[in-house]
Amino acid sequence: MKAAVLHEYKQPLRIEEVARPECGADEVLIRVEGCGVCHSDLHLADGGWPQLLSAVAVKKPLIMGHEAVGRVVEKGSGVGEIAVGERVGVAWIYWSCGQCRMCKEGLENLCPRQAITGVTVDGGFAEYVKAKASHVTRVPDSLTAQEAAPLFCAGLTVYRASKRAGVRAGQRVAVFGVGGLGHLAVQIARSMQAEVIAVDVSEEKLELARKLGAEHAVNAAAVDFAAQMKKIGGPHVALVTSASKAAYDQAFSSLRPDGTLGVIGLPGEDLCFPAIVMVARETRIVASSVGTRADLRELLELAAGGKVRCRTEARPLSQINEVFEEMRRGKILGRVVVSA
Ligand SMILES: [Zn+2]
Ligand SMILES: [Zn+2]
Repeated sequence: MKAAVLHEYKQPLRIEEVARPECGADEVLIRVEGCGVCHSDLHLADGGWPQLLSAVAVKKPLIMGHEAVGRVVEKGSGVGEIAVGERVGVAWIYWSCGQCRMCKEGLENLCPRQAITGVTVDGGFAEYVKAKASHVTRVPDSLTAQEAAPLFCAGLTVYRASKRAGVRAGQRVAVFGVGGLGHLAVQIARSMQAEVIAVDVSEEKLELARKLGAEHAVNAAAVDFAAQMKKIGGPHVALVTSASKAAYDQAFSSLRPDGTLGVIGLPGEDLCFPAIVMVARETRIVASSVGTRADLRELLELAAGGKVRCRTEARPLSQINEVFEEMRRGKILGRVVVSA
C-alpha cells in the first residue's frame, strides 16, 4: 500500500510502497478515506518535542496521522462489536490498558501505558491503517470522512477542554487563535450557548470566526487590545489554542476575576503567571489532553446534529510535505485532510 513514512526527523516524509498491515485477533483493518493533518504531526516530524520524545518510544520508520476515518475492510477473529463495512475513526489514543488507576477513573487519556496512533504505532497517512476494535469510534452516516476526520483530534481536544474549563450558557468565552482547533472551539462554545470572543492576529481568521457565530472578533495585534477586551467584558473562560506564549499572556490578563484559563496550544517556552494576580483574581488554570472515547462520541453527535463543522481542504497524500510547509507558514484556514 501507499504510505507517507517518517524515517528521520527534519527530513521530508517519503511516499513509499509498504506492506499492508495484518489484523491481529482484536484488531480491524480500515481503508482510510481521509486523515486530518495535525500540528502534532508537524512537530513530531520536525523532532520538535523533546518532552514527548523522551517520554514515549516513537516508532521508526513511522507512518504518522491520528485523525483517520474510513471503512472496516477486515477484522480479527475475536472482534464482535464492529462489522466489516462500518465507518469508523482512529484517534490519538490507539489503545489504553483499562486496568490502571487512570483508566478505572475514566481518564483513559492519561493512561501511562497507552499506545499513541502515528507516534508509537503506525497511523493514518496511508491507504490502510489497523486499529484495536475496542478503541475505534463509529462515525455517524451524516458526516463525510473529510468532515469527521479532524474531529478525532482537533475537535476532541477542544471539546474536552471546553468541558473541563466549565463552559456554560451565558458565559463569555474567548478563543485565542482561530486555526484548526480554534475555529472548532468557536463552534463548540457556541453550541454550549456561550458568547464567543474570537482573538487572532489574522483578519481573515477573525472573519471566519464571525461567520461561525463569534459575537466579537478582536485583533490581538491591535494597540488597544486590552481596552477592547475590557469594553466587551473580561471572559469567564479563555481557551488558548494558539501555540504562542504571547497569546497566553494576553488571555491571562484579559480574564475576569474567577476566570478560567484553558491550556490547549503548546508554545515551546514555559508559561509564567504572577501568583499575586492569580490569587487576587482567583484564576483557575485548566489543562486538557486530547479526550476519551466518551468525549468523542458526544462530539460526533454534536457534529451530526450540524452544530460543529470543520472547515477542511482535501489534498492527496502525495502532497503531505507541501501541506507541512504551508502549516509552518500559517497558511492553512481550518484543517487539511489527506487521502491516498
Ligand atoms: Zn492531533
Ligand atoms: Zn490504563
